[in-house]
Amino acid sequence: MKQQILILGAGFAGMWAALSAARLTDLHGRHDIEITVLAPRPELRIRPRFYEAGVENFAAPLLPLFAATGVKFITGVASEIDSASQQVWYHNEQDQLAAVRYDRLVLATGSQMAPALPGAQQYAFDVDQMESAARLEQHLAALAERPESVARNTVIVCGGGFTGIELATELPARLRAILGDSAAIRVIIVDRSPVAGGRYSEQLRGVIEQASAELGVEWMLNAEIKAIDESGLTLKNGEHIASSTVVLTVGVQASPLTRQIAAERDPQGRLHVDGQLRVIGQNAVYATGDVAFASTDDQGNHALMTCQHAIMLGRFVGYNVAADLLGVEPLPYSQVNYVTCLDLGAWGAVYTEGWDQVVKSTREEAKKIKVAITNELIYPPQAEREAAFAAADPLAPFV
Ligand SMILES: Cc1cc2nc3c(=O)[nH]c(=O)nc-3n(C[C@H](O)[C@H](O)[C@H](O)COP(=O)(O)OP(=O)(O)OC[C@H]3O[C@@H](n4cnc5c(N)ncnc54)[C@H](O)[C@@H]3O)c2cc1C
Repeated sequence: MKQQILILGAGFAGMWAALSAARLTDLHGRHDIEITVLAPRPELRIRPRFYEAGVENFAAPLLPLFAATGVKFITGVASEIDSASQQVWYHNEQDQLAAVRYDRLVLATGSQMAPALPGAQQYAFDVDQMESAARLEQHLAALAERPESVARNTVIVCGGGFTGIELATELPARLRAILGDSAAIRVIIVDRSPVAGGRYSEQLRGVIEQASAELGVEWMLNAEIKAIDESGLTLKNGEHIASSTVVLTVGVQASPLTRQIAAERDPQGRLHVDGQLRVIGQNAVYATGDVAFASTDDQGNHALMTCQHAIMLGRFVGYNVAADLLGVEPLPYSQVNYVTCLDLGAWGAVYTEGWDQVVKSTREEAKKIKVAITNELIYPPQAEREAAFAAADPLAPFV
């Protein structure tokens, strides 16, 4: 019987884990190890683009790529990981419960919003998953049919992190296209920080402030959200902002499947992993992408919940899980370079390098970099064996 590497999730981390594991087994000429990806659908959803209009287009098919590289795919949603018997229970396409066994498991089920705010489930929107981003898009389009009002014209973005900023700076143009140039549009970012972009470098903050001011995006700072209802948002200080569209970008947590692994987790639910990306305390379970709390270097930095990290974590975990079964030396995960490229809507973008976020380019120049990253670099490789294996090499240049 073949040995099984089972990868849960077909996001950036899961897809690259599969290709990288397939590459290493191929390099060693071994055909007794099977690599299987289990996920709800055989496509890579490009989450970093979900704040843009046209969200239903941001997915790339994976079956041709998996066929070219010898990776098996199972359509399903995993519900239970049984570490003792080394099998995973999942619901298949017919919603029947089925089981698949593994010799090594790679958890790559990503992250999702888990809002705890009163009224959030019922009244708030988000751009976290394709379905919820599509719901927001439909809602925005339907605003045009409503009578003019302050609430109709006001969009509140809760959270001034990267996702909140990218969405908010994109919205003035999107809203004008829907509501017309004469509508008194307001886009407000609500954040508990005392300064706009408070968690970023001073240089980056300066750019964010300038772009926000030029686009007319307002920041409501030192603001703690109390509740959301159909009339808008209420702050803990009692202030109420009328809005038909409150969008949450805060409260992202690692996939709930992480709770089924007996191991330490960080406050976002990510599993602590060692240098090989094996879950600490587990022999047969690895974690990667948004579910892994992994050290990136010897300077005390850790991987963030970003696609930039998920791609490299995927390439390394695939190598290491295959090396484990092949009995060859693992490759410790290391990702020293860190860049950010933040879309700032019609203003352009900003590109920084290093953990201290030194601004390297802005406006149109940075926008070209952003487009190259989100429209090309992060998409799957060609469905061609040699090209895919070359790209899956953890030591191949990335950023
Ligand atoms: C709006 C937005 C903007 C972003 N912008 C950026 C950016 O500019 N730059 C950047 O680097 N990052 C960005 N990110 C973050 C980035 O998208 C994530 O860090 C990245 O997608 C993580 O990759 P992943 O493979 O770990 O998880 P995901 O991409 O979330 O993939 C998870 C996979 O697991 C599957 N899955 C989930 N549950 C189960 C289950 N129970 N059983 C089986 N399969 C399951 C999913 O269907 C999916 O295939 C952004 C995210 C969002 C939402």
